[in-house]
Amino acid sequence: MSALFPTYQRLDLHIKEASGSILIDQQGTQYLDFISGIAVCNVGHRHPAVQQAIEEQLKKVWHVSNLFHLDIQEEVASLLVNHASGDAVFFCNSGAEANEAAIKLARKYTKRHKIITFAKSFHGRTFATMSATGQAKIHEGFGPLLQEFVYVPYNDKAALEEEMDETVAAVMVEVIQGEGGVVLGETPFLEGIQKLCHQYGSLFIVDEVQTGIGRTGKIFAYEHHGLSPDIITSAKGLGSGMPVGAMIGKAHLKAAFQAGSHGTTFGGNPIALASAKATLNIISTPSFLEEVKQKGQYLLNELKQRIGEDTRVTDIRGKGLMIGIECGEYAPLFIQSLKEQGLLTLGAGPHVIRLLPPLTVTEKEINQALGMIEKAFQTQNVMN
Ligand SMILES: *Cc1c(COP(=O)(O)O)cnc(C)c1O
Repeated sequence: MSALFPTYQRLDLHIKEASGSILIDQQGTQYLDFISGIAVCNVGHRHPAVQQAIEEQLKKVWHVSNLFHLDIQEEVASLLVNHASGDAVFFCNSGAEANEAAIKLARKYTKRHKIITFAKSFHGRTFATMSATGQAKIHEGFGPLLQEFVYVPYNDKAALEEEMDETVAAVMVEVIQGEGGVVLGETPFLEGIQKLCHQYGSLFIVDEVQTGIGRTGKIFAYEHHGLSPDIITSAKGLGSGMPVGAMIGKAHLKAAFQAGSHGTTFGGNPIALASAKATLNIISTPSFLEEVKQKGQYLLNELKQRIGEDTRVTDIRGKGLMIGIECGEYAPLFIQSLKEQGLLTLGAGPHVIRLLPPLTVTEKEINQALGMIEKAFQTQNVMN
């Protein structure tokens, strides 16, 4: 009997070792990992430069708390603000904590309560971020939720306009809905959010927890749309597997987060930040991001060519190396079939197979994965 709460539906795999794009289980079986710890291991498992940075930090100091100055916090904050529309960073330990900080800051800064998010969004599991998440199944059994969270259909500018007024503290959006099914936000919709926020004095918050840190071929996905959010939240890929989150905000917001207003014991931990620094240095080179774009385009094109005509496939979409294959009720069967062949993928909503390979994935590995995907769709032909 397990001594763990059964909060997760787990694969029947016991992973013993990981390197690059490969996971090795207890039996020594190798798997091509197109999950990457859910968009976390963006530079591959145990990237040597990240491992070295962590090992060096382990020899210096592990933890002293935020009662002290830590130079590495300033260094990573500088790297982040150099690549984002914001000017100041609050470090925490997860995506939910980054969004929690964003929601608290938005209410404190605007002195307003209403937060608008979108149907099928995902923002985390704490009370505020669960309340911000537009999915009934995530709320089930936990009510009453926090007050004044409103959900609007995604990519529906008119519906948002209806809800906007001078009581709105913030609008929070994913540039691509990850958990909701790899749904791409359209430029006019995203621009519309920014414009409406400016018009009503509300904060524009972009949740880049899954889409950020190079995943879509830019450091942050909002850059594809030329936006300038007031707040950006990051986590997942930021620490390559070390737990770290960040909320990046514009300079004028600093006044609302004075000493004593918000905090966390572990946030900005030196080991996690050593990992973040090394990760950002790898991701932020132009050639790295260019390769992510090229590999993503190749994977997307090949998928369309090889399985796009299959009657069970209703859409193949994505940006960079965040790709969804929509195939209705068949998605879980294909995910299972791919696993049996040695390719690990995950679902996004009930109908989409989500591909999140490490951004360092090689062309050879992409071709191997394509071969397995093609085969899965061939051998499952009986259900056509
Ligand atoms: C995963 C995720 C979160 C929550 O991050 P945790 O680190 O699990 O708390 C929030 N927003 C988005 C878009 C995510 O994908």
